[in-house]
Amino acid sequence: MLDVGETLVDETRVFRTWAQIFGLPEFTLMAVLGGSISNGEKADDWRRFFDLINHPDWQDSRPDFEERYGSLRPDDLYPDALRAIDGLKRRGYRVAVTANQPARRHAELEALGVEVEAMGMSDAMGVFKPEMAFFDRTLELLGSPAPGDVAYVGDRVDNDVVPAAAARMRAVWIRRGPWGLLHEDRDGVADLVVRSLDELLERIDEAWPRR
Ligand SMILES: [Mg+2]
Repeated sequence: MLDVGETLVDETRVFRTWAQIFGLPEFTLMAVLGGSISNGEKADDWRRFFDLINHPDWQDSRPDFEERYGSLRPDDLYPDALRAIDGLKRRGYRVAVTANQPARRHAELEALGVEVEAMGMSDAMGVFKPEMAFFDRTLELLGSPAPGDVAYVGDRVDNDVVPAAAARMRAVWIRRGPWGLLHEDRDGVADLVVRSLDELLERIDEAWPRR
């Protein structure tokens, strides 16, 4: 089961778009984001980030953001996204995509060639990471397999690794993107740590304990 942001999709354009809306240099906005991610518990809370760049009223700009960002584009996908999905399927894995995303990403990802058995976007499901209900619902999308037979692959320790492990799934941490590089798995709950989806394809079998 694959996350979207910073797992399949490079979110550079998300933050470039916010920089344009606020008239900030991209360097400033992205550096402040990095600072807020690494600045302790819950520090990547959106309110704090937008407070720091002096735009606590950012929600008012959401329609402008949606218009400028538009749909996902082919080069928003990480270069290994489609080949990893393909490779996992060829190796006999069932593949699903579930994430905290607007409902329309489902069709947008399909339009980019993401062909998987099930897709669940939080806005459509009405449940969000890191709630347990999100992980329960995503298992239902695959016909409720035993959680221990399912790996959840995501870039964030707080939203992906810790709750997936709590849901008794195999937690795979992909260390890319700002959250993936700045977070720390202090309690060592990840079953497997990789740096790319190419590496995931090579090492996915290690996510399961030796039988
Ligand atoms: Mg993510």
